[in-house]
Amino acid sequence: MNISVAIDGPAGAGKSTIANIIANRFNLMYINTGSMYRAVALMCMRRGISYTEVEAVCNLTNSLTMYFVGDKLVVNEEDVSEEIRLPKVSNNVSNFAAIAEVREILVRLQQEMASKYNVIMDGRDIGTVVLKNAPLKFFLTASAQERANRRCNELNEKGIAVEYNNILDDIIKRDYIDSNRETNPLRMAEDAIKIDSSKLCIDEVVDLISSYIREYINKHKQ
Ligand code: C5P
Repeated sequence: MNISVAIDGPAGAGKSTIANIIANRFNLMYINTGSMYRAVALMCMRRGISYTEVEAVCNLTNSLTMYFVGDKLVVNEEDVSEEIRLPKVSNNVSNFAAIAEVREILVRLQQEMASKYNVIMDGRDIGTVVLKNAPLKFFLTASAQERANRRCNELNEKGIAVEYNNILDDIIKRDYIDSNRETNPLRMAEDAIKIDSSKLCIDEVVDLISSYIREYINKHKQ
């Protein structure tokens, strides 16, 4: 049985943590599309290419080979998983992700991955664009304050010192750019199930999503 699960939502809503657990539980390939946009931003920043240099950004994006090994993203044979999470990338990624041509390249790559494997994919436009026909779509959200809190704890645990107010500002700014860009803005798909995780712990969200997946599997197994 072919299965694809789409999880969309704003920055810091817990999508990647939850998608990762569900991928292991149901033996799905986890594709973190945010990581792919982050990788484009990182590679451009390393070469001093600004998001305003659209042609150079696109040429570089086209030249990258990207694949996932578990939850690690390998770009041009380098594991960039740690570096793409740094605040310097978080602060810039939305500007690169707003470039229509970059989205076209990455959406095609994401669709190719989904055509080969059973996937759980998270991002901003998965239910509305990338996997429009996915039978299982979720929109995960939480208040900006709660999301900033979680991001701070996550970075602090990794030994990266950050200020709550800076993280909150970044989240609000990214929400704005992601929701207002012209191409594939952050939207909840009409057929998505909305989950507000502000007052739920990770296990509760995982169990909720798992129950929908199980119901789908039971209904469709021959
Ligand atoms: O999910 P994450 O916060 O790591 O995503 C980083 C950024 O990548 C988002 O703020 C957004 O600008 C962009 N993104 C996107 N479309 C996706 C996934 C991420 O525009 N499908």
